[in-house]
Amino acid sequence: MNNKITIAIDGFSSTGKSTIAKLIAKKYNFIYVDTGAMYRAVTLFAIENNFIGSDFFDSESLVSNLKNISLKFIFNEELGFAEMYLNGVNVEQEIRSLKVSQFVSKIAEISEVRKKLVLEQQKMGENDGVVMDGRDIGTVVFPNADLKLFMTASADKRATRRYKELIDRGDDVSFKDILFNVQERDRIDSTRKDSPLVMAEDAIEFDNSDMGINEQFERVCSLIDQKIAQIQ
Ligand code: C5P
Repeated sequence: MNNKITIAIDGFSSTGKSTIAKLIAKKYNFIYVDTGAMYRAVTLFAIENNFIGSDFFDSESLVSNLKNISLKFIFNEELGFAEMYLNGVNVEQEIRSLKVSQFVSKIAEISEVRKKLVLEQQKMGENDGVVMDGRDIGTVVFPNADLKLFMTASADKRATRRYKELIDRGDDVSFKDILFNVQERDRIDSTRKDSPLVMAEDAIEFDNSDMGINEQFERVCSLIDQKIAQIQ
């Protein structure tokens, strides 16, 4: 039986897209691609090379150095998911920091950055059996995806989730800063010129403000099973 389909999960920041995507990948044996990790890794590269900071952004230098950025996902057996490597170095922890979150949406506005990453994403999803999450997967990366989900939740709920994640790993952050960052990223992501965050016409919207992970996963699995049955 061929159960290989392409699933696009888009939506606002911290809506639990990656949690659902990882569960899907595990259950259906699909490849999971966290495209946010790719934008975050380019951002870390820009910070490390002094192309971006709180009062400056040298986007031209970043663009001319894009050829020096190599991104790889390497599966970590122990954790059960792939970690992001930037030029051969595991940056999985660093890319989740608030500092990277504060600059990532500025980096993601640059068309040259998007062009490079979208091409890489399309290559990763060439063979079906892939679940990819991001902001433009159902609209730009895979407009013909078999199943498109669009996740939303209240800003307060999303900031609470992200705050807990960062506090649990020992980061020194305030709830106020996290809430501001979540709202600011949504604003920039939704209003940028190139590939703004919008729901694809054929996407199914999921507001998970008041939905537990098990209920969400059950609903998503039934949508996936329907799609798989259709392609048999
Ligand atoms: O998904 P995550 O919150 O890690 O994404 C970080 C940022 O990367 C987003 O706020 C957005 O600016 C950018 N992004 C994007 N397109 C994608 C994935 C992420 O612009 N497909």
